[in-house]
Amino acid sequence: MDSKLPATGTTIFAVMSSLAEECDAINLSQGFPNFNPSQKLLDLVGQYLNSGANQYAPMPGVPALRKAIAAKVQTLYGRSVDFESEITVCDGATEGLFSAIQAVVRSGDEVIVFDPAYDSYEPSVTLAGGRTIHIPLITSSDKPDFHIDWERLKDSVTNKTRLIILNFPHNPTGVILSPDDLDKLADIIRQTKTFLLSDEVYEHIVFDGAAHESLLKHDELWARTFVVSSFGKTYHATGWKVGYCVAPPALTNEFRKIHQWVCYTVITPVQHAIADYMAQTPDHYSELPDFYEQKRNHFCQLVAGSRFTLRPTNGTFFQILDYSEITDEDDVTYAKSLTREIGVASIPISVFCEQPFANHLLRFCFAKDDHILEEAAARLCQL
Ligand code: PMP
Ligand code: GLN
Repeated sequence: MDSKLPATGTTIFAVMSSLAEECDAINLSQGFPNFNPSQKLLDLVGQYLNSGANQYAPMPGVPALRKAIAAKVQTLYGRSVDFESEITVCDGATEGLFSAIQAVVRSGDEVIVFDPAYDSYEPSVTLAGGRTIHIPLITSSDKPDFHIDWERLKDSVTNKTRLIILNFPHNPTGVILSPDDLDKLADIIRQTKTFLLSDEVYEHIVFDGAAHESLLKHDELWARTFVVSSFGKTYHATGWKVGYCVAPPALTNEFRKIHQWVCYTVITPVQHAIADYMAQTPDHYSELPDFYEQKRNHFCQLVAGSRFTLRPTNGTFFQILDYSEITDEDDVTYAKSLTREIGVASIPISVFCEQPFANHLLRFCFAKDDHILEEAAARLCQL
């Protein structure tokens, strides 16, 4: 068959999760918690399921949920957004990203992503007829965290650049943006017509007292940005696939033209339940960083005695471990052999990169109960 996506295979998340299941391994590969959402949220979903909220929600989403999102955006990022014309509830962040890309990218347009780049971006750009330009995140002696190479970005932005996709806190490296980064980006794109797509699904998982630099905070950038987020990470409910897109009215208008044909709307009782839960538990966002910071610290302490080298993680629920002291094997082979041989599944980083990147890196998800992290770390420490 003459495929529309010849370079696309099965996503690494499906590959590694099914291998983990087959090998009965501890699954630290695909990013999902092993614990449940709060009982209060589960009860609210049950309540709405049983009280008849089971038919189509309005196409842009249940108004109460869009109002709750608008209130959050105002409180956390100081931006006043109109729930009617600037917020759309989507079928997870995945659909939000896909619809935003289809909304703006035309045949022949260029779209810049930063490698390692989340794996749904490029196929979505290809389906829109666009060309993906990969810019690797870099490390340097004064800044060992992966960060944007601003000079290279400046040189790569041309009149063909239709969209730049950002994802901070960054999956898989865990790096975050600083306010200064937003200003640098604004300087580079000021004279262009480039749109921005900011994948902020880990917006509430930022460590060590740092703040999340949402593009919603920046007046100039916000005017041309789709901000996409997901309730999956925030409420420990990745299987519900409910997310949202916040964008200025003209962008939202184009976004909805696609969203209505991709899924039309999103599961009704869950939207109502999340709306109530957001209003009733305003502290959830402030508690989440500590909760995951403790998990990061615990996992890092547990593997500190191993032959892996830890990379800094400032956000997300992923920890990168460098295994170059252990073997020269490529990361895909090594991730699979660790799953089979010691029963710990992880994600190889090279699959998110166009060019060979920093080799020998694996991503481990620490959104797990402590006893699972302890057992996984004990196995990693034996290597
Ligand atoms: N973007 C990034 C960076 C992700 O890690 C994920 C997966 N959690 C998504 C998008 C997709 O989110 P969702 O499950 O809500 O579709
Ligand atoms: N975002 C999740 C991760 O990075 C996976 C989501 C998916 O499987 N599509 O692990």
